[in-house]
Amino acid sequence: MTDFTRRGFLGTAALVAGAVGIEAAAAEDDPRSYKHKEDLEALPNFHYAMEASHARVTEGGSAREATIKQLPISKGLAGVSMRLKPGGIRELHWHAIAAEWAFVIKGRVRTTVIGPDGVSETNDFNPGDVWYFPRGHGHLLQNISAEECHFILIFDDGAFSEFGTFSSTDWLGHTPPHVLAKSLGIPASAFARFPKEELYIVNGRTPSKEVPPNHAKMQKLAPNTHRYPLMDQEPYETFRGGIERRVTVKEFPISTTMSGVVLNLDPGAVREPHWHPNADEWQYIISGHCHIGVFGSSGRSRIEEFHQGDAGYVPRGYGHYIENASDREQLQILIGFNHGQYEEISLSTWLAANPEGILADNFRASDDLVQRLPDHRVFIASKDGPGV
Ligand code: MN
Ligand code: MN
Repeated sequence: MTDFTRRGFLGTAALVAGAVGIEAAAAEDDPRSYKHKEDLEALPNFHYAMEASHARVTEGGSAREATIKQLPISKGLAGVSMRLKPGGIRELHWHAIAAEWAFVIKGRVRTTVIGPDGVSETNDFNPGDVWYFPRGHGHLLQNISAEECHFILIFDDGAFSEFGTFSSTDWLGHTPPHVLAKSLGIPASAFARFPKEELYIVNGRTPSKEVPPNHAKMQKLAPNTHRYPLMDQEPYETFRGGIERRVTVKEFPISTTMSGVVLNLDPGAVREPHWHPNADEWQYIISGHCHIGVFGSSGRSRIEEFHQGDAGYVPRGYGHYIENASDREQLQILIGFNHGQYEEISLSTWLAANPEGILADNFRASDDLVQRLPDHRVFIASKDGPGV
């Protein structure tokens, strides 16, 4: 490419970029434009109004999902908001490509899960409880409360769709009745009357108070429980601007590929800028209103506004912060990670770990200003600052 054609090429690229965003407009006068912004795609949208989206509704309940189809940036994790009517059963099914991590917001849910070697477990879940089903393990969910129940499911693969699971009615409906008859010892004519397509969420009879016995009348218990009561946990640390509850493989040994957090921020408080070296982050706003800022290197950053019921996503290693945008309301946000261990590096910790002279030179700041930086991890700051 000659100098002339290269200039012409870059000029065209800048024009195209200018047409789609304001960021490129200033690039020509900006001394930082050596970063070749025109060669970079802008930081993609990371916000999705999940509860405002179209729901899949069947007789016993409904579900809305956020996958790479709705939120293309979310390659590592997907999420579902599910509601079951009283007695409603999300039928027996499994997931070929993802584990399932869930948090109950409202109502009570009973699950039965089966793993290899015939080990299984039936559990009742209250609001604030978490379940984890390893990838491929068969399970079902039932609302055992008298009101509608609501829970959030998080999956450790962004391509996972709740509407493409391996469901029992779909499977049996597509297996020759004579094969089922030979396998299970019931006449083929009986299986011929089974549903031919997936029922997904069906109405169930009123559930018993106590956990009912299984068909085998004995259970080979799974070695690790699938239930963790997250909101019963004493916050591991309290901050002036909020609290965080966290569950990892350490507290919940079966949860080897995922971990999660419920973060409460007071009005105006900030979960300080940080990143996760090991995991992508999937977010759901349980209540409140916040701003989330994401930094994606090369001058790319984006701030999105979130309300109750919105989902968000931060790729592994990307800098981000969460700010409660309300001056009255608490913010409660559910966060899932696609790693069993929780790792984070916060801005305050990073700065505090470096020599003061280096920090002053790095930021062209005075020694005096650097002296006043926090000498400890802030993690959550109140509307008035980090405090001590
Ligand atoms: Mn499932
Ligand atoms: Mn984070």
